[in-house]
Amino acid sequence: MNQPVKIILKSGKDQSVKRYHPWIFSGAIKKIYGQPTEGEIVHVYSNKDEFLGSGHYQDASITVRLLSFTEQEIGASFYQDRIRDATAARTATGLMEDPETNVFRLVNAEGDGLPGLIIDFYRNAAIMQFHSIGMHRNRDRLVSGLREVLGNRLTTIYDKSDSTLPSRYASAHRNEYLLGDPGRVEVMEHGNRFKVDWEGGQKTGFYIDQRENRKLLSDYAQGKRVLNLFGYTGGFSVYARRGGARLVHTVDSSVQAVELAEHNMYLNFGQDSRHRGIVADAFEYLASPQEEYDLVILDPPAFAKHQNVLHNALQGYKKLNAKALEMIRPGGILFTFSCSQAVSRENFRKSVFTASANTGRRIRILHQLSQPADHPVSIYHPEGEYLKGLVLLVD
Ligand code: SAH
Repeated sequence: MNQPVKIILKSGKDQSVKRYHPWIFSGAIKKIYGQPTEGEIVHVYSNKDEFLGSGHYQDASITVRLLSFTEQEIGASFYQDRIRDATAARTATGLMEDPETNVFRLVNAEGDGLPGLIIDFYRNAAIMQFHSIGMHRNRDRLVSGLREVLGNRLTTIYDKSDSTLPSRYASAHRNEYLLGDPGRVEVMEHGNRFKVDWEGGQKTGFYIDQRENRKLLSDYAQGKRVLNLFGYTGGFSVYARRGGARLVHTVDSSVQAVELAEHNMYLNFGQDSRHRGIVADAFEYLASPQEEYDLVILDPPAFAKHQNVLHNALQGYKKLNAKALEMIRPGGILFTFSCSQAVSRENFRKSVFTASANTGRRIRILHQLSQPADHPVSIYHPEGEYLKGLVLLVD
């Protein structure tokens, strides 16, 4: 067997690792002993030759994603144990046995000690998304771990990583079933029904991270005229209607998204003239809305994928929120979100504050929202907290 690869960090660059941060950036590396292949396990040491941790190597700006901070073997049982831990955390939050909800995130990357891996669970199907080569090279072990831990609760496993793996590696990748037959399922979330198409849909098929925020929305919907911008599956629309909204409009620029939203409304409420799906650009729709609204939801896609476009992203949030705040009726409510990891809670809040101040209206914060318990954040990896939301009362 070859000697394991040893990576030595520059002086001072061991500090964040000693605080259990799981990423080693290329600029922190002083020397590499050996020639690691992508995805291989490497061992990381300080400049004083202290062992710091072991993780997956990748030829990228995040060069090592650490899996362990103690000297231990990272083999099949390691991956299985991490899946068992992640499942135990969902059991602790009540999600494994919730009669009203059968869709949740089972593995949340760094938040569950498995950097580079997302697994979303839909009724009895696990949809895997690999973001790192190291995790993908261990796919078989992860699949065995899943089958061992979940037993006959699991009938389908699908690997959907063609858009998440690094492109040089993704080009050889085909999305594929690793267990069970192709298919779509209907899932339940707080008793609401949704069709999920993991093959054709965005991400793994559903934005699971908004579950608790959608539920909160239904408490505000009674008698309201609701505008759901960037509506996708109509998640917020279904909850608005459940909460007694007078009318609900779902706007999305994608035809398929609007069709899916209409389908989901039908699944829950049958034919219902109170809902309308509108294919439009959200910014354009806000410039000439078809109705007056008392409750508006803004849940755009990530405006900033990287720090270097942060300024533009913040301008985007400001502009979008300003338009919504201008048109909302007095006494209205705005649910506004950012899912950009590069945008901090502070920066998002500042953008919304600037937009608010420019309207001259009296605006109060009712709730500050985040991601749910099945999207846990490691306290040592604050970057994992990506979803930020505000609920504003607009007089
Ligand atoms: N709120 C949704 C998730 C939104 S995802 C939920 O709870 O499930 C973002 C959506 O915005 C996608 O469906 C995408 O098609 C749509 N979108 C992206 N750019 C848009 C634009 N400029 N105008 C309207 N919709 C847009």
